[in-house]
Amino acid sequence: MAKITLDNLAHSYLKTPKSEDDFALKELNHDWADGEAYALLGSSGCGKSTLLNIISGLLHPSQGRILFNGQDVTNAPTAQRNIAQVFQFPVVYDTMTVHDNLAFPLRNRGADASYVAARVNQIARMIGMEEMLNRKARGLTADAKQKISLGRGMVREDVNALLFDEPLTVIDPHMKWELRTQLKSLHHEFGHTMIYVTHDQTEALTFADKVVVMYDGRVVQIGTPQELFERPAHTFVGYFIGSPGMNVLDAQVTGATAIIDGTEVPLGAGYGALDGKVQIGVRPEFIRLGRGPEGLPVRIRRVEDVGRHKIVRAEMNGHEINVIAAEGDVIGADMNRVVFDPAGINVYRNDWRVAPVGSAKEEAA
Ligand code: ADP
Ligand code: MG
Repeated sequence: MAKITLDNLAHSYLKTPKSEDDFALKELNHDWADGEAYALLGSSGCGKSTLLNIISGLLHPSQGRILFNGQDVTNAPTAQRNIAQVFQFPVVYDTMTVHDNLAFPLRNRGADASYVAARVNQIARMIGMEEMLNRKARGLTADAKQKISLGRGMVREDVNALLFDEPLTVIDPHMKWELRTQLKSLHHEFGHTMIYVTHDQTEALTFADKVVVMYDGRVVQIGTPQELFERPAHTFVGYFIGSPGMNVLDAQVTGATAIIDGTEVPLGAGYGALDGKVQIGVRPEFIRLGRGPEGLPVRIRRVEDVGRHKIVRAEMNGHEINVIAAEGDVIGADMNRVVFDPAGINVYRNDWRVAPVGSAKEEAA
């Protein structure tokens, strides 16, 4: 297992990139701690696979270095990096049996027969394919083949890291949960450094200790699910994570007060005077509906009962605002104000979160 360091890393698929826009992966410095389970989360095209393929060595970065436990592997081929990678679509040997597919990475490394037999059985149990070990891979469903790919990725215990690139895309929905649970238990058992790529926030938040959020070729935040919820570092994180995501509203901010559409809104902390594009972010969970006089004027458009709570879709001066109310709350049609919990408000300047005055410690942590 290894700590993986990305040092000044960047990548462009163009031979002569002219501006930052030409980079699929913008400059990045980051340590992936040894033994930690990470999710790499972002929408399609934001650079997740590019980053993963650079770590595994399938792709050579146009700039910067990759280190495993402090050793430079930037120019080392994939095989030397000792990494298991599972892709979105199955990669199996059609003419081999399920058993031989699973055994392949072990035999390739010269593992002895009794170990191979035991380990293959163990993995077959994890992916629910014990009954199929003697079947040829040819003719199996895409779903079954992808389970073999996953099994092959997990079979070796001595890898530096396990990389999964949206591995459950072709898997049946009810099996997804099961396999994700297996991956988690595998992590607890062996403590591999794991990076799990997904565009699905639920998958990311349930799988990982730490979530790395990417947006437009850039890592915008690395944090625990709780940190991403409470203090989104970028408006994209606030918007992308949560359902519905954070409300982002244009504002003027002076000290501990924001002014939104002419109404003063108290903030939980002081911010000095901010220039540039200033916005506040407040999650639907931190908004309360009322009948005034305090609060910002809204008009309720729709109430969605989603079981554990209600989502209220309202309109505020021409933009949509979402509020989460408790299951038992009665939402009256005459409710025409929203009040924000000051502790749930974050302030953004040009889309990046601004730390409150006097909170240098919080930001350094
Ligand atoms: P993700 O995995 O997050 O969906 P990718 O890393 O595959 O994103 O892609 C990031 C960006 O790089 C996209 O704009 C994509 O079109 C571009 N890209 C990916 N692979 C190649 C390639 N082989 N050649 C040129 N551009 C590529
Ligand atoms: Mg991808």
